Amino acid sequence: MGKPKILIVEDEAIVAVDLRERLTALGYAVVGVAASGESALRQVARHSPDLALLDIVIKGNRDGIETAQAIRDQHDVPVIYLTAYADHETLNRAKATQPFAYLIKPFEERELHVAIEIALYKHSMERELRCTRRQLQERVAELQEQIAIKEEAEAQVRRLNRSLEQRVAERTAKLQEANKDMEAFVYSVSHDLRAPLRAIHGFAEILVRRYAVEADPDAGRYMRNILQASDQMGRLIEDLLVYAQVGRRAVRSQAIDFGDLVSRVSQQLAGRIAATGASIQPPCDSPPMCGDATLLSQILTNLVDNALTYHKAGVPPYIAIGCRRQNEGICIWVRDNGIGIAPGCGDKIFNAFQRLHSHEDYPGSGIGLAIVKRAAELMGGKTKVDSMKGKGSTFSIWLPQGNPTGRSIH
Ligand code: ADP
Repeated sequence: MGKPKILIVEDEAIVAVDLRERLTALGYAVVGVAASGESALRQVARHSPDLALLDIVIKGNRDGIETAQAIRDQHDVPVIYLTAYADHETLNRAKATQPFAYLIKPFEERELHVAIEIALYKHSMERELRCTRRQLQERVAELQEQIAIKEEAEAQVRRLNRSLEQRVAERTAKLQEANKDMEAFVYSVSHDLRAPLRAIHGFAEILVRRYAVEADPDAGRYMRNILQASDQMGRLIEDLLVYAQVGRRAVRSQAIDFGDLVSRVSQQLAGRIAATGASIQPPCDSPPMCGDATLLSQILTNLVDNALTYHKAGVPPYIAIGCRRQNEGICIWVRDNGIGIAPGCGDKIFNAFQRLHSHEDYPGSGIGLAIVKRAAELMGGKTKVDSMKGKGSTFSIWLPQGNPTGRSIH
C-alpha cells in the first residue's frame, strides 16, 4: 500500500507550506494545496485523496465548512478541520458535516499525526462496514428470493397433490362403478347359463344311463365327456356367481370368534376332510378380532378347500390354521403339507382363472383364490402366499383392525 494521500485546503501560503513539510516528514503524500473551496473540490475530483485537511476561513464563495459538506456529498473523503475558531456556532456547523477531527490552531504535530491516523483508520473501518452491510443486504435479498421460490414450489406441490388426489378419487369411483357393472354382468350371465346347462347335464345323464352301455365305445365316451364337461362348467358357473356376489353386499365389521369360525368351516368341509383323511390343527389361542363374518368364512373355506385338494398323492393333508396380531392388524394363516407352488407362480394364482394344474390332475375353476383376494381387499386387507414346490404352502391374510387402509404382510 502506498503513502496515504492528503489534500490541504488552506489559503495562507506560509501555513500551507509548513503543513506540507510536516506531513511529508510524517510519511504522507500531499497531493495538492487548495486556497479556495472551488479549487479544493476540483483537486479532490482529480486526486481522490484519502483525507482532506481544511481550514474554515478560506478564499472564494464557500468557506471550509461548506467545502467539507460538498466533499462529503460528492466524494467519499474524510475531513479534519484545522482552525483558529472554537465558537459555539462554528462548532455546530462543523459538526453537521461529520468531520473526523477538529483541531484548534496552534496544535502539536503529535496531535495532528494522531488525528490523521485515527481518521484514516476510522474511515477505512467505516468503508469495510458499509461493504459488509451491503453484502449482508444482498445475501438477505437472495435468501428472501430463495424462500419465496421454495414457498411457491411447495404451494405448487400442494396444488398438484390436491388435483392428483382428486383425480385418483374420480378414477377410483369410475373403476368401482365399472367393477360393479362387470360383476352385475357376470352374475346375470352366469345365472342365465345355469338353466340351459342343467338341461344339458340332465339329458347327458339320461343318455349315459340308458344308452352308454349299448352304444359303441366311442359314442359312450363322448356321452361321458359331455357329462364331465357340463359338471365342470356347472362348478365354474357356481364359483363365478359366488365371486360376482362377494362385492355386491355391504361389508359389515363385527367381533369374530376365530376358533368358532374355524370349527364351522371344518364342519362344512367335514365330508371332504374325512374323504382325504386330513387332520386339521385349529388355532390354540386367537386374539380378539373384527371382520365381516361372511367374507372371513369364504376366505377360510376356500383356503382349507384348496389345502384338501392340493395334497401329495398318498400323503393325507395336515392343515394348521392360526391367527395372530401383526402390524396394527391381524394375520390369519392356513398352512398345508401339500404339493406346494413353483417359484414365481405365487403372485398370479390370486387372479381369476389362474390355475397351475390341469383339470385331469386337480379339478377346479381357478376362482377360489380370486374370491379370497377380493374378500380380503373388501375388508382393507392383503393376501400373500409362501410356498416351495413339494414342501407345502402357507396362505396369509392380513386384515387391519380399526384402520381401514391396507398394509402389506411382512
Ligand atoms: P382352483 O383351486 O379352483 O383351481 P384357486 O383360485 O383356488 O382355483 O387356485 C388357483 C391355483 O392355485 C390352483 O389351480 C392351484 O394350482 C394353486 N393352488 C391353490 N391352493 C394351493 C395349495 N394349497 N397348494 C398348492 N397349490 C395351490
